[in-house]
Amino acid sequence: MMLKNKLNIDNSFTKSLPADKVLDNHRRQVVDACFSYVEPKKTSNPKLIHVSNEMLQEIGLTEEDATSEEFLTIFSGNQIIENTHPYAMCYGGHQFGQWAGQLGDGRAINLFEVVHNKQRWALQLKGAGETPYSRSADGLAVLRSSIREHLCSEAMHYLGVSTTRSLSLMLSGDKVLRDIMYNGNPAYEKGAIVCRVAPSFIRFGNFEILASRENHETLQLLADYTIKHFYPEILSEGKQKYLDFLTEVRDRTINMIVHWQRVGFVHGVMNTDNMSILGLTIDYGPYGWLEGFDYEWTPNTTDTQHRRYRFGNQPYIGMWNLYKLANALYPLINEAEPLQNILDEYEELYLKAYEQMMKNKLGLFSSENHSEIISQLEKTLQFTETDYTIFFRNLANIIKDDSQESAIQKVEFAFYTLEEVKDDIKDQWLNWFSNYLEILKTEKLSDEKRKQKMNSVNPKYVLRNYMAQLAIDDANKGDYQLIDELYQLLKNPYDEQSNHEKWFVKRPEWARHKIGCSMLSCSS
Ligand code: AMP
Ligand code: MG
Repeated sequence: MMLKNKLNIDNSFTKSLPADKVLDNHRRQVVDACFSYVEPKKTSNPKLIHVSNEMLQEIGLTEEDATSEEFLTIFSGNQIIENTHPYAMCYGGHQFGQWAGQLGDGRAINLFEVVHNKQRWALQLKGAGETPYSRSADGLAVLRSSIREHLCSEAMHYLGVSTTRSLSLMLSGDKVLRDIMYNGNPAYEKGAIVCRVAPSFIRFGNFEILASRENHETLQLLADYTIKHFYPEILSEGKQKYLDFLTEVRDRTINMIVHWQRVGFVHGVMNTDNMSILGLTIDYGPYGWLEGFDYEWTPNTTDTQHRRYRFGNQPYIGMWNLYKLANALYPLINEAEPLQNILDEYEELYLKAYEQMMKNKLGLFSSENHSEIISQLEKTLQFTETDYTIFFRNLANIIKDDSQESAIQKVEFAFYTLEEVKDDIKDQWLNWFSNYLEILKTEKLSDEKRKQKMNSVNPKYVLRNYMAQLAIDDANKGDYQLIDELYQLLKNPYDEQSNHEKWFVKRPEWARHKIGCSMLSCSS
């Protein structure tokens, strides 16, 4: 059977919402519409580099399908399945705290939606050429950022963090000009296309743009569409329906950010156009993984001045962004107080969820309040460079009968330089372990059971920044083997994988200040 006949195509977004009446592809302000029809640019020599076999199955395809010429032509944008009409979405957003007006899918083109096993999936090519929303840019994407998006979105999924997915990673065969560090050194790089997949790619910004243009009718259509398809549990009507909607988006956003903090993921650009209305991690750009624990850390070199999107600020930014969403939904409610009440609950809900998450990481499963031991740990972790992932993974090896000294020895692999852990710092650690061991003794679970539970929330393997960079360096030389190795590794991030122990290490020193490893610009 032809691949296209296996896909159960069922477009809901374009059917339910108003389209831009202008059909040609020039940059413009798109008013009174949620999207514009636009076709992907033809690529000169597409080549499939990697495919997510699980994502294939999710949409009803097999691994064999992925080896076909048809797969290559459809997911590189060279072939459009008949009766489908690709489109780019219109959205706006607040970028770094400022209203930025219309943004939109400047380099993402939605192909179609499929429904398989009762699950709706929208498939979208990123880097497939210009759209009416491309502004001054080219609509393309380079290989390095595409590898990062493909690997990380799948890795996040397997970590249990809600996220958009990635079906395939292709080379376009075309060259793309980029000035990586924005310092006047543009160079040609290999172009690539990722096929992203999610139930929907609607963002906070899709609502904001309609509200900013006072297009309340379409705003309501978009809210009704989103609720009907993606929040079917909301059964209320009238104003209450939109209040329930905001409440649900708030809760999904909190949940997502708590998971980010759990695994040490720093998004890097939490602008409202990068906030999924479904609470999915979306738009993998200058993201990074926390290595040494540091609330102040951000991988994004564009944000070094104010560090708005630093690790420790992500929960606050989630709330800030929800304020912007609430403003956008206001015309559907016309009353500030109930909106305010929903936002006022954010902090308490977040803190509660955060504390529960940290208790799980620490293996403290009895119900008492443990905020003291958590905050003491957060302080102690800052004194010396301590690898976040390794620390928590190895913490599970501690047993109730350990002494403070033997307990420290079990986590010392997480310290970048052991020599730093002396005198005052050593005393702080001994003090923390003494308190921790005290609490552990009151835990009902056996050491073995506790370890098992801790290991199910403290990953052993994450996509460390240098790991992605190694895969990129190889890929630029035409070797794609490491991409698959990392993909396979990160499918089971909580398992011990004895043949992959080499990835359970601290960042090597060469990667400390290397571009792409701990510092990334938005250039992609
Ligand atoms: P980002 O900060 O990467 O989420 O992007 C913000 C906006 O810029 C979105 O509207 C993107 O579609 C657009 N954009 C980013 N890179 C490009 C590009 N190479 N070509 C066209 N639009 C882009
Ligand atoms: Mg974006």
